[in-house]
Amino acid sequence: MQFIHHGPGKAWVRTATDLLWPFIVAGKRWSNLPVLRWLIRPFFMRPYNEITTIPIQAAVETPGSVVLPRRIVERLLEDVKDIFILDECICRTHYRADSPPRSIGCIALGPAIRRIHPSHGRTAATDDAKRHVERAARAGLVANIAHVWIDPVAFGTRFRDLIFICLCDDTHCLYRTHMKHRGPTLDGAYQRLPGLSVSIDREVCLGCGECVEKCFLGDIRIREGKAEIGIACAGCGRCVEVCPNGAVTLALADEEAVYGNLVRWIRGVSELPLRKTGNTAA
Ligand code: SF4
Ligand code: SF4
Ligand code: SF4
Repeated sequence: MQFIHHGPGKAWVRTATDLLWPFIVAGKRWSNLPVLRWLIRPFFMRPYNEITTIPIQAAVETPGSVVLPRRIVERLLEDVKDIFILDECICRTHYRADSPPRSIGCIALGPAIRRIHPSHGRTAATDDAKRHVERAARAGLVANIAHVWIDPVAFGTRFRDLIFICLCDDTHCLYRTHMKHRGPTLDGAYQRLPGLSVSIDREVCLGCGECVEKCFLGDIRIREGKAEIGIACAGCGRCVEVCPNGAVTLALADEEAVYGNLVRWIRGVSELPLRKTGNTAA
């Protein structure tokens, strides 16, 4: 029988997260300061911090059909062998928040999950993981595909073949919150998935500013009475949901192309084995 050395259990990870929390929050503000901004940058930027967003909560209308970005996440789940569902979201647990439910935790992918301590959740089959994502979408959560240093550190596992699907809200997520206060060295911390675009119809926009408030990156400005999206947009789709006038549109190239882009992105940042690529070695 093979002995597996597991990383730390749930109680340790909760405590470590609570201790680390103020530093990560402050780090976003410190990234505005001279010298510090360059010391902080590696903690939030490539190659140790890669995040792309998939707006699973949104339906995208294309001529003749409605494509759910969630389908992109489902295809990823079909293409990986090792899946582990965390039974609690560490960020919402930090705040003792029940809405959205803290029982909707991240999904970890890749051979590295075998070292995650069983107290964090369960290994899962594809259909189980798809149901988890569907539940997250119904709760209004956004999926972030992440290859970030903090996960292997927290769970005591490998970095290279570990990818997380984080199912986050805008109020409690350690990474998403406070991003508005970042310095320019952290622009691009969230990468928009190629093939996904967000645009504002200036004829329809009334300049009410609700999208400005909602954008977690602070990347929308009102200019001459109309909203404008900047270049840092991660494509999370929140501004689409919040606009009372239907002025914001989320568009997706065809499913095949977007999924191909996601696969290329994952292969560019990690060594996650994907069945689609024929690289299934564990
Ligand atoms: S990153 Fe997102 S899913 Fe993961 S623990 Fe934080 S809020 Fe929850
Ligand atoms: S919420 Fe809609 S109408 Fe209001 S500023 Fe934004 S795009 Fe314009
Ligand atoms: S502009 Fe809209 S889609 Fe882009 S990051 Fe901001 S809220 Fe998300």
